[in-house]
Amino acid sequence: QHYTAEDITKMANDENVEFICLMFTDINGIIKNVEVPVSQLDKVLANKITFDGSSIDGFTRIEESDMLLHPDLSTWLIFPWGEEHGKVARLICDIYETDGVTPFAGDPRVNLKRIVKKMQKMGYTNFNIGPEPEFFLFNTDEHGKPTLHLNDDGSYFDFSPADLGVNVRKDIVLGLEKMGFEVEASHHEVAPGQQEIDFKYEDAVSAADSIETFKLVVKTIARKHGLYATFMPKPVQGINGSGMHINMSLFKGDDNIFDTTDDMLSDTAKKFMSGLLKHARALTAVNNPTVNSYKRLVPGFEAPTYVAWSSKNRSPLIRVPAATGKSKRIEMRSVDPTTNPYLAIACILDAGLDGIQSNYDLMPEVKDNIYEMSEEKRREEGIIDLPSTLHNALKALRKDEYVQQSLGKDLTNSLFAAKNAEWARYQQTVSQWERDTYMTQY
Ligand code: GLU
Ligand code: MG
Ligand code: MG
Repeated sequence: QHYTAEDITKMANDENVEFICLMFTDINGIIKNVEVPVSQLDKVLANKITFDGSSIDGFTRIEESDMLLHPDLSTWLIFPWGEEHGKVARLICDIYETDGVTPFAGDPRVNLKRIVKKMQKMGYTNFNIGPEPEFFLFNTDEHGKPTLHLNDDGSYFDFSPADLGVNVRKDIVLGLEKMGFEVEASHHEVAPGQQEIDFKYEDAVSAADSIETFKLVVKTIARKHGLYATFMPKPVQGINGSGMHINMSLFKGDDNIFDTTDDMLSDTAKKFMSGLLKHARALTAVNNPTVNSYKRLVPGFEAPTYVAWSSKNRSPLIRVPAATGKSKRIEMRSVDPTTNPYLAIACILDAGLDGIQSNYDLMPEVKDNIYEMSEEKRREEGIIDLPSTLHNALKALRKDEYVQQSLGKDLTNSLFAAKNAEWARYQQTVSQWERDTYMTQY
């Protein structure tokens, strides 16, 4: 939706909006929010709202800490909750330096726009993204904190009464629709307490905006049901974790460039995919950015562990779903919902563009379940492992200058700073598993 400043002012008045949330994300994909009363709307629309960037993770440049928020007017919407103190609307913002004209390179959304421009220069108009976020619903205790009790013991596509998630899910879907989402499907996932809601594909920046909004809506509505929604990739060991598969296709106007009549995927799609495979290990640091992400990427739980592609099997990194025409696409299955979607989509797109430009050899399609392949067979087929820990993923990113350049200097530096520290904290933690295993043995 394209709105002018006048449209926004009118809608704010007509709907009696009292507060406006100005939203952006930090390096971790966490939504940051500057809330202003509607009396400040003129200032908002004039791009004059400042905030102190030095206290936001990944924005640390103390010398020039004041930054400006440039709201993207097309992101205007009124939240379907919180009416006690008047209606609350939100605008997603790009971050600008204090001069008011230079987009801040360390803003993940600004960076994604940079890569989208590069794509457009290559002659494509849209990078369409259909995300499949999965999440768990846990019961809460008397303080509203999440417990380890899953909300139900349903399983894939279950229907009530086994699936107690059904009412929350309906509420979430209704909330999303009120906010302009086109929800395509919602269902119980394989694990108990696990849900999935899929919404219609959108162009890169809108898709990233929607993913961030989605997480907020899910958490907010779950809370109203006395439940806690988590996008943590592997909250419970021994059962499936939560991924966020990314379905993608490249469009020129109305034409899906990944589609072709005589073969499964167009040549461009194959080249694009070769770029994803080439940079797969480094991309993992961006797409699976937490210590816990790697507890999901293990064999046996429908999550990928190897760098390969297939049209049949769900064990590899990339799957080519059976689809034609506008929905011909490739699905990257490693991504999980702890990723900052602006960073993930920028790096995925740029890796694909590298594939189109560099003509890497595309490995043959894998037809068997890789979980069951011997190591020898995998080596023969040229199948390498995805990084097994955050530490290994960061090392892979360190070696891949192309993916670092997809992030740009500022974001690369702040990602390494944040993630090396996270790894060090984890690595120094002595866990119960270690005590159980070693205390009496030695
Ligand atoms: N939950 C699985 C994962 O960790 C994916 C299941 C599916 O194929 O949707 O990626
Ligand atoms: Mg799923
Ligand atoms: Mg999927």
